[in-house]
Amino acid sequence: MKSLSLGGVCADFTCAICCKDTKMMLSLNDIEKIEKLGYKKDDFCFQDEDGFFKLRNVTGNCFFLVENKCQIYTDRPQGCKFYPIIFDLDLNKTSLDEDCPLIHTISEKTLQNFTKDLKKFVRNLLREKSDS
Ligand code: SF4
Repeated sequence: MKSLSLGGVCADFTCAICCKDTKMMLSLNDIEKIEKLGYKKDDFCFQDEDGFFKLRNVTGNCFFLVENKCQIYTDRPQGCKFYPIIFDLDLNKTSLDEDCPLIHTISEKTLQNFTKDLKKFVRNLLREKSDS
């Protein structure tokens, strides 16, 4: 699947707004990939009341955010790779997260290019949730 490369503060890993109080959902593939890096599932992940697996926060930051840097950036979860393109389950549509200071760099065309992959990813999350 595609991943965004926004440059600037994001590529320098100095922003990390999206990694604070994260609510990022994880696919089973994400979890398996991160476990293979040597991390324990219960340390970085939990299942919410709706049955979705999500990244765990530690003192307000994603478990993997250390000194404002993602410790698994190359292998970060697929949802983090899509960010700041997000999917609103209530509205059933993709959009840009207004918390991200770089959304002005993303064109409508880029948003459309990622929509199909993001919807596919979300459908998979919903399937995995109902299977769990
Ligand atoms: S996994 Fe990395 S990129 Fe994703 S929220 Fe956590 S620190 Fe940020």
